[in-house]
Amino acid sequence: MLVFSRLDALMAAARPRAACVLALDGPAPLAKLLTQRRRRRRAGRKEGEGRPDRKGARAAPPPGEPPLSSLALTPGSPFMAFVEAALEYYVCARLGAGRWPGLQLELSGAGVPGEGEVKLLARLAAGHWAGPAASAGTHCLVGGDSDLLLMAAACRADGPVFVMVDDPRPARRSGSGRGGGDRYPPPTPPRLFSVAALDAALGRALGGAPPARLAAARRDLALLAVAACGNDYLPPLTGLTLPAAWRAYLRAAAAENPPPPLVAVADDGAVTIDAYALAGLLEAVTGGDPAAAAAAAAAAAAGSDDDDDDFRPPADPPSYAGGLAWLLAAYVTGRCVDYRFVYDGRGPHAADLARALRQGPPSIAPPHPARPPLPPAVCAAALLPPGEPGRDAAPRALRGLWSEGSPVADLYAGCAVCDSLSTRAAGAQRAMLVALETARAAAKEAGAPAVAAPRTPKVEAARAAVRAAAMARRAHVRTVHPYEPFPLARLEAAVAAALAEEAGPDAPLDAALLSPFGHASRYWRPGGRLPPGPPCPLPAPPAARLPPLDPSRPPVARERLLEVGVGGAPAAAPAAPGGRPKPPLPRAKKVRPPAARRARPAAPAAPAAMRAGARGRPPGL
Ligand SMILES: [Zn+2]
Repeated sequence: MLVFSRLDALMAAARPRAACVLALDGPAPLAKLLTQRRRRRRAGRKEGEGRPDRKGARAAPPPGEPPLSSLALTPGSPFMAFVEAALEYYVCARLGAGRWPGLQLELSGAGVPGEGEVKLLARLAAGHWAGPAASAGTHCLVGGDSDLLLMAAACRADGPVFVMVDDPRPARRSGSGRGGGDRYPPPTPPRLFSVAALDAALGRALGGAPPARLAAARRDLALLAVAACGNDYLPPLTGLTLPAAWRAYLRAAAAENPPPPLVAVADDGAVTIDAYALAGLLEAVTGGDPAAAAAAAAAAAAGSDDDDDDFRPPADPPSYAGGLAWLLAAYVTGRCVDYRFVYDGRGPHAADLARALRQGPPSIAPPHPARPPLPPAVCAAALLPPGEPGRDAAPRALRGLWSEGSPVADLYAGCAVCDSLSTRAAGAQRAMLVALETARAAAKEAGAPAVAAPRTPKVEAARAAVRAAAMARRAHVRTVHPYEPFPLARLEAAVAAALAEEAGPDAPLDAALLSPFGHASRYWRPGGRLPPGPPCPLPAPPAARLPPLDPSRPPVARERLLEVGVGGAPAAAPAAPGGRPKPPLPRAKKVRPPAARRARPAAPAAPAAMRAGARGRPPGL
């Protein structure tokens, strides 16, 4: 219900007139799965301890209902099938009630590969690649992820593009002292970002460049932002900040013989990075001094606060460069060329990457041929954390993987030493924050000038405790858990075996949940310029509190779609099953629901909800 009212509010704010895409996160590229996996293991541990966590928050469930964990919001989990069924109910209820006349809605569920944001990019870019006639209209991307800004900047779309950043979570906790620590301020209102406004700003910075140069500058900005800040797919370079990189970029662009753009897009959509242009920029930032670079890298490695670094092998600059090309290709085209690309190493130093680029080929293409996405069941098995929280969120057929004799039991084995060292590190961190705050308050009382980091003996002692805790943890990880590549093939085999073994009266339910991939569907209410179409069966209410849909209302048409960009395939035309005429898909606003990750939907009455999910689920491809 909360999700429905949130969606109503977003639809009212974005006011789509022609088409709207609701895209849930489906199986993500392996690189992102591994990042999520590390994150979720932390969240799962905190849930196991009964402590609320920002990413794994849990609500007090109403009496008689199971607690809802954000861990269940994983492609391939029964709960995601429920969310998808609930969204279909929402779409049919609103369209049937005459809401949004003339609008077509597309629902791309968690069984359709790709992250929600990237699915939206695929829609934007598909219009572009389909030719100028298909790409009129204004587009609005709505989502809670600030990466959407970068994606919109890099994406090749025609027509004005806006991004509405809607994050129902507050930026941070209000208050840090006694009593105020657990209260959250209300969500921030959505912020609107305009690609045209970015172009105007870039035009001023580049001294009145033509539109094609502005589009190239946007892609280059996205590339530099990923390299400097990192994201869910790649760690950041060391020795590079975004402001420094951008200043160097503008200086180079203003030179008498400016270098070509960093990112090149061919007429067929192939994306490459100009190795020498990027090397030149990195050299300009780092001064091109390998000795200084090595010292900085050593210092960065020693002082790194990034938990992830403990689990990563050394940097591999050529592979990192390929990763940049792979990522930009996904941003520009909305298609993931290789779902199984992973860069596992630490972020290289900018000077090391520059050197590798000088020694390699002049242009960097995404490194691998197309490899298919992971089936949703494999995603669920890879992402859900050890112990009960993870096992309980898994489909029944897979729960045996968590038991001791399973061939992948090691993936779900916790480590008591890691847990206690993490607790110690978190405690030291908290103690340091308290010491800092006390020192600041004391300085203020004494009338001393404000200092961000006062250096009192207590603060220094707390800082030393934080360092000691981090070093103990790192030493343990290096000796007991050395880096190993994720055993994907072993996990895939174990999941396949578990599914084959599954039998009995409940098998059809899990079989539907675990079918390799789902379809997206398009819904509309026939009339006006929208043609009749295959009617959509009335979806069951996802919760007992919601009324069944009224069969006497005008029917809603539904059409299954072949997903754009599945498995790196070229953009596919929408299917017209049974030879029926397919309705036009005007290009307009796209709305991504905050549903999947952000809001906290009402907890389902599990068995009925899961049956509804199974029924509402389209057959596999
Ligand atoms: Zn351990």
